[in-house]
Amino acid sequence: MLSVTPIPALSDNYIWLLRQDTSPGVCVVDPGDAEPVIQLLEQKNLNLETILITHHHGDHTAGLPALIERYSPHVIGPDNPDIQGLTQRVGDGDSCQVMGRRFDVYAVPGHTLDHIAFFTPGIPPLLFCGDTLFAGGCGRLFEGSPEQMHQSLKTLAALPDDTLIYAAHEYTLANFAFARAADPHNAEVTAALAEVQRARELDRPTLPSVLSREKLTNPFLRCADPDVRATAAEHGDTTTDQATFTTLRAWKDRF
Ligand code: ZN
Ligand code: FE
Repeated sequence: MLSVTPIPALSDNYIWLLRQDTSPGVCVVDPGDAEPVIQLLEQKNLNLETILITHHHGDHTAGLPALIERYSPHVIGPDNPDIQGLTQRVGDGDSCQVMGRRFDVYAVPGHTLDHIAFFTPGIPPLLFCGDTLFAGGCGRLFEGSPEQMHQSLKTLAALPDDTLIYAAHEYTLANFAFARAADPHNAEVTAALAEVQRARELDRPTLPSVLSREKLTNPFLRCADPDVRATAAEHGDTTTDQATFTTLRAWKDRF
């Protein structure tokens, strides 16, 4: 059994820790800070075998030098020369073996151009999507176009409905505040917002989410929904699904 637990880091990042049964060899995803990772591995007597990187931003990679020096792990990430220390560069359609499981790589440009996501089939399937798909939202467009991000989200939305979504930030509360504005008559959004508020009051992570819930509540996956489109129309062009996505993303930036 593969277990996945969050290591909170920086202000609102989660570094996901993957562990197979009781094996001491573990994997982390997007270590933006080495300190909390080392602390946990020391405390539990674990060895870092593999690091997965989704994109080049510092809050996902800054822990690499210290972790590489200490553990010499296998480091798998996108084919971007700006990321130092990778031992395996992967792109769309590639697969890699991590913790005895197959991980499939999807190119998901938008937040950055080098952004990739790691998906591993299983019961349930797991997705590590960095800053592309969040619970209730999606990443900001720093490098890619709205068209690229929309396509990337459609790629992820085509994964199995029971896929668990391990995003890299605790942005869920702000995302659902926006979702309620964008999709005000959606009872699933209202219920999800209440649940997220309770979780955050108790200082609990709101992740992972599950893809089926995202399809019902995440406005960025609901650009074809007549209600979402009608609300977005007050903020810009909504003549196509793509236009609605572009309008929603720009509106969220100002929200
Ligand atoms: Zn980022
Ligand atoms: Fe980030």
